[in-house]
Amino acid sequence: MTPETIRMPDSLWAAVTPPGPELPRLEGTVQADVVVIGAGFTGLSTALHLREAGVDVAVVEGAEPGFGGSGRNNGQVIPTLTRPDPEDIVARHGASGERFVALLRDCASTLFDVARRYQIQAEQEQAGWVQPVHSPGRIRIAERRVRQWSKAGAPVEFLSREQVRDMLGSDAWYGGFWNRTGGHINPLALSRGMARAVLDRGGRIFARSPVSRFERSNNRWIVTTPQGEIGGRALILATNAYTGELERSLAPDIAREVMPVRSWQMATEPLSDAARRTIIPGRQAMSDTHGELYFARYDARNRLVTGGALMGTDTEKLKAAVGARLRHLWPQIGDVKFDYVWNGYVGMTSDFLPRIHRLGPDAWAWAGCNGRAVALSISIGQELAKAAQGTAEQDLALPFTEPAPWVAHGLLRRLAPLMLMVYRRRDAAELPETPRPSQPEHFVAWASNLRNRLTRLL
Ligand SMILES: Cc1cc2nc3c(=O)[nH]c(=O)nc-3n(C[C@H](O)[C@H](O)[C@H](O)COP(=O)(O)OP(=O)(O)OC[C@H]3O[C@@H](n4cnc5c(N)ncnc54)[C@H](O)[C@@H]3O)c2cc1C
Repeated sequence: MTPETIRMPDSLWAAVTPPGPELPRLEGTVQADVVVIGAGFTGLSTALHLREAGVDVAVVEGAEPGFGGSGRNNGQVIPTLTRPDPEDIVARHGASGERFVALLRDCASTLFDVARRYQIQAEQEQAGWVQPVHSPGRIRIAERRVRQWSKAGAPVEFLSREQVRDMLGSDAWYGGFWNRTGGHINPLALSRGMARAVLDRGGRIFARSPVSRFERSNNRWIVTTPQGEIGGRALILATNAYTGELERSLAPDIAREVMPVRSWQMATEPLSDAARRTIIPGRQAMSDTHGELYFARYDARNRLVTGGALMGTDTEKLKAAVGARLRHLWPQIGDVKFDYVWNGYVGMTSDFLPRIHRLGPDAWAWAGCNGRAVALSISIGQELAKAAQGTAEQDLALPFTEPAPWVAHGLLRRLAPLMLMVYRRRDAAELPETPRPSQPEHFVAWASNLRNRLTRLL
């Protein structure tokens, strides 16, 4: 990709969001106190919090603010990780894990506070986040989450089957986990709003300036782009799942520790008032426990924003499969028409935990959102801003590790879509009535076998 060929996907968010601020490229030689690479939620939150503290900060973005995961996600504001719960995090990271759990517990409210404080119109609705359980056997996931998060002080509740039915308007689930601090946003509007807030407070953002390398020279960090160079005392690498996507040479160890898995998003036409009276009438954000995730939330125009997984790129197949799923969950929805389909990369780690690194003196990075870091990335950005101002590591809510690239990353990346069949198989085994596209048996067995071998290898 070159700066000329990089463009935002034709998403719902791109269609409804006012343009972002006009931004210059990085040209010539420039200096700042802190240089941030990447203008997603992490980089913009870091810059915003640094500007609040009066620090001279410049963000260098390869495309435009929100080009990565931040401008194309489902917009669910979720104060948990995908799988690990507080006890897993503390078992892995000890005291810094405990601080991280507190950060995660509060991250949804932190996001809504940021939007309020900077008066960002991002269609935000703090309507809560619910994780309904798709099979009787998985009820223990909700019970465990409620137990662990209650202990950590989060306002969470266990929902019975009847409560989930009332909340979501569907009989498909068996109970659920509920956190009222969650909700949903228009993520591109939040990205662009945060970019404006950075500029309004005197920060600088350079766009269409992909960084090819950063290095240490004369006690400064030097960041190089095709037409310029910027030097800084401190450096934050905030490129997450897009780390190797614009420039392969940028931090290959970090690029290879996340598996960029393509996630498809889609938006229906606006639902009728009658449909909305029974389909998620309280407008909560919802992601369930299926391996092949079921998720949905309304946008401000009453479109249901949902998605699915796809092998290949035949979006008509995707529309048919996700349409059938919606009719299965909510028969009252009637015909389903999708007006927008788009996709983006979610950065998966082998244990579903985020990775936070020291890159050298006064330099840090993180990656591994695992599809759950709309809110978390803003809170991590706030912590990275503290790190860049000299806060001691024992006072940061950041569990640092060394980069741990996936073995055979290139090969696994190509094979990752096959995991979909394994998930479908497992989901269907738990609930035989679940609608699913047919798959050749031997292919499923082969994929499952491959996964087991690779897991043993790693
Ligand atoms: C399709 C999809 C759906 C998702 N849905 C949800 C959800 O509903 N809820 C949830 O919690 N999480 C969700 N996520 C995850 C969430 O979007 C991410 O965790 C979050 O946006 C990460 O923000 P970030 O700023 O760390 O990274 P990004 O937003 O990816 O930002 C990285 C930036 O770095 C830039 N960059 C990359 N390389 C270079 C370079 N060489 N030079 C300069 N700049 C560079 C990119 O252009 C990009 O703008 C989803 C992700 C995807 C892709």
